[in-house]
Amino acid sequence: MHWYQKQLRMLQTVLREIDIINYDAKAVVEYMKKSNSNVLVVNAGGIVDFFHHETEPSHGNPFMKEGQEILADICRECHSNDFRVITRIDFRGAQKYRYEAHPDWFAANPDGSPKLWGQTGLCSPCYLSEYANGHAVRFVKNLMGKFPIDGIWENSVAFAMGACYCRVCRETYLADTGKEIPLDADYASPVFNEYRAWKEKKADQHIIRIRDTVKSFGEDKAYSAEVFGMFHNSFYTGIDTYAARYFDYVVGVGFLTGAASGNANKPYDDLSNAASAVRFLKALDPHKTTVLLTGNNGTRWRLVKDPSQETRIWMWEAASVGANFWNCHFNGQYPAATHDRRNAYIETDVYTYLKNNEALIQGQIPVTDVGIYFSKASKDKANIERDESYGNAIKGLEAALVDNHIPYGFITDNDLTPEKLASYSILCLPNAMCLSDQQVEAIKGYVEKGGSLLASYKTSLFDENGNQRLDFALKDVFGLSYTGIEKDTSFDCYQMLRMPAHEITAGMDADKTIYFINGGNTLLCSAMDGETVCTYVPIIPNQYPEQAWIRITETQFPTVFTHKYGKGKVVYFSNQMDALVYTNGHEDYFNLVFNSLKYLRKEKWSLETDASDSVHAGFTKDLKSAGHYILSFVNVGSSGRRTIRRLNEAQGFTAALRLPAKDLVSVKAIYPSPKGDMTLIGSESSDGQLALRLQIPPFKEFLAIAIEVS
Ligand SMILES: [Zn+2]
Repeated sequence: MHWYQKQLRMLQTVLREIDIINYDAKAVVEYMKKSNSNVLVVNAGGIVDFFHHETEPSHGNPFMKEGQEILADICRECHSNDFRVITRIDFRGAQKYRYEAHPDWFAANPDGSPKLWGQTGLCSPCYLSEYANGHAVRFVKNLMGKFPIDGIWENSVAFAMGACYCRVCRETYLADTGKEIPLDADYASPVFNEYRAWKEKKADQHIIRIRDTVKSFGEDKAYSAEVFGMFHNSFYTGIDTYAARYFDYVVGVGFLTGAASGNANKPYDDLSNAASAVRFLKALDPHKTTVLLTGNNGTRWRLVKDPSQETRIWMWEAASVGANFWNCHFNGQYPAATHDRRNAYIETDVYTYLKNNEALIQGQIPVTDVGIYFSKASKDKANIERDESYGNAIKGLEAALVDNHIPYGFITDNDLTPEKLASYSILCLPNAMCLSDQQVEAIKGYVEKGGSLLASYKTSLFDENGNQRLDFALKDVFGLSYTGIEKDTSFDCYQMLRMPAHEITAGMDADKTIYFINGGNTLLCSAMDGETVCTYVPIIPNQYPEQAWIRITETQFPTVFTHKYGKGKVVYFSNQMDALVYTNGHEDYFNLVFNSLKYLRKEKWSLETDASDSVHAGFTKDLKSAGHYILSFVNVGSSGRRTIRRLNEAQGFTAALRLPAKDLVSVKAIYPSPKGDMTLIGSESSDGQLALRLQIPPFKEFLAIAIEVS
């Protein structure tokens, strides 16, 4: 087993040029010891070089002294403490004077001028250019030949936006496709379909080239590169999280001040998104170590700390689903030696929990009663059209799952097999607009054999290239057909309750109302065969109040519809029910989604608890060693608004587990330790199923329990 397949508790110091002055390798390692880190990621170079070398064109750190070699120093200090060293390389661009020395080594606009990287003034390479390939390979060989480093982190690998018209790209594209690269067209238009697919392949080849260079120094040398979360717009760069298949460990970027931080009204991401990011990474490759790249001082306002209590919750959320960590720090030599040291060591409690329980934690993946289908084609389409309906559908569905503590995970569309699908009791397609015929067949087969399906809105209405179909490709499975008419139901719209006694409306006081709320958009669909639980109501304007009524409120167009297909059960929402849980949050949406999941399930959830909504649950199992589970809870507080500054203790509650086993071997609290007086209040075995009941004591931030069964 290689070191990168074991637990990774990383510290990254993204050094600024001035941080090399009086670089103190011993002090960095002292910080790592105290915080229980075991891997350091530190600058080697690319844009600014932090070591002396002969690979031209170089750009040495102007503060680096003759004879100073911080990489030699840090390798020595780290290795003598059994810590690993990964160096950061970055070939996203070069300064103008380096570009001028080799203008043919970089990406070009149609007129031959350099493509620039954002506002930095750096000139970008493309995936075929000499700078990012021949030069980068020579650079890595030089670096790895000089210092006994343990791996390479390729930062900012998504470096070439849109189309490149350098001579190499033009020639290669012509040779590969027999065509010229399109000119004067929108990059998002179909004109570029073939080019974009070609570019994705070239991006892959670049990654493979750098990885192979790293591996030429030994299999024990690790390679990974910077990819972002599941909703990241990869359309213009050709690189998204699926590139993780080439990495030795799967790392995804997820800062508290992350995805949402571009929005001034919502600078801090939803706390459950740390766990969501990790669930997604685990789905990409459950066999690899999964690392959440986050940071004690955040990424936007890098010179001051991120909110402390929320940073702790953020990390515990990720830990609850089996994450390893990468603490990325952007200034100073280490977190306790910079402008704002208030969050120095904030990672220590989580890192210590991981370290103390490494044998139990490593290899844990989420228990998944429910699988959320991730459609890359739908994500791409949504990103091109700046349409948030896809991301919001996933986030809303997740909110309903998280608040009800239902074990779930993701299933990605890149390797959809019947075996993989069959492992989920419920498959969810939240507005999975773009499905290929092959994917449709796989999903049909899954339902036919008895799988349960929850789908919403435009699911299967487009093919994998974003071309609209006349009707849902899954219409036989849904039991209804699209009329081709879409209604804006964002305001003053309602759903009429047609089956008040249905399981899907249970607990919603259905005997006291004829309407539930509606919002977003609604597709008008004709039922073919199934049960109409709720129907679309045409807009009832609220002004002027005397005329706030309409003549016909009853229609035949279902908003909530159930159907049986083969041996399986299906619920389809023709509106944006799941997205509305996230964007509007009315409890009608929330309850209709949750009740639909309950209606679709075949047996009780693997975890059932009366914990409040302000306690999030993680329930994981060991992929390699059957019978080893970890149940954990995170207190996310309930101040009513962000940010959360203080946590009160979460009240005690009960948790019931249902496991495919006969006997209980052991159950013990592993955090907080040793004061967690959790009690086993029931254990029953029948028909190959073991039912456990636990009384969970009050706790402050995080509580974890290891369970072994046979
Ligand atoms: Zn090019």
